[in-house]
Amino acid sequence: MNSRLPTLCAGDASAATLRNHRERIDQSWLKKELWPVRNFHQAFHGGLWTGLIHAGLQFISGGRGLIDPMRAEPGYRAYTNLHRDRTLVDQSARFKGDGKLTFDRLTDVYHSGTRHDEDQPCHLVVLEPDICSDRCVREFGNPCQYFCPAAVYEMGMEKGVPKLKINAANCVHCKTCDIADPYQIINWVPPEGGGGPNYDGM
Ligand code: SF4
Repeated sequence: MNSRLPTLCAGDASAATLRNHRERIDQSWLKKELWPVRNFHQAFHGGLWTGLIHAGLQFISGGRGLIDPMRAEPGYRAYTNLHRDRTLVDQSARFKGDGKLTFDRLTDVYHSGTRHDEDQPCHLVVLEPDICSDRCVREFGNPCQYFCPAAVYEMGMEKGVPKLKINAANCVHCKTCDIADPYQIINWVPPEGGGGPNYDGM
């Protein structure tokens, strides 16, 4: 058994076995690296200009700034309800790039060398797909089509009804969907080892 990861190897993540985890993080390079930026993201919650002031003060005070710790709401709660009808937005006019310096998303996925075993368990599960084809169309216009950089989520029509298609093999493992999904119904789990982007040669 690996003595550095006893809880993982034993499959035991109870509070008792993890009691030293905080202490070990505090003593490691990880804490040293992340502590000065602990409030950076939250600083921009109120907009760019207040964010720049906060970030500047944090920079000269080792991350402390004016408020420490700063709190912020999860980003997925900031969506504005569109109150639309159940009509899909035409995606054909989306950015396609010039094919030389800028590219469409699928070409970028190709360049990332992303690949997964065909028969591996799906690492992206939408827990309530009915929400995608109804509520999300009307309320938020299916933002998954926009925030996913790899065109994994595609809305289309099937028998006159909006339907979500998931191109899981495109996934570049950024985990944005797990965080930005307005209903928190996308369950992203780490895929099998060896899959995903391979940026060699870019
Ligand atoms: S993890 Fe990133 S690339 Fe993969 S489906 Fe989610 S948003 Fe798309």
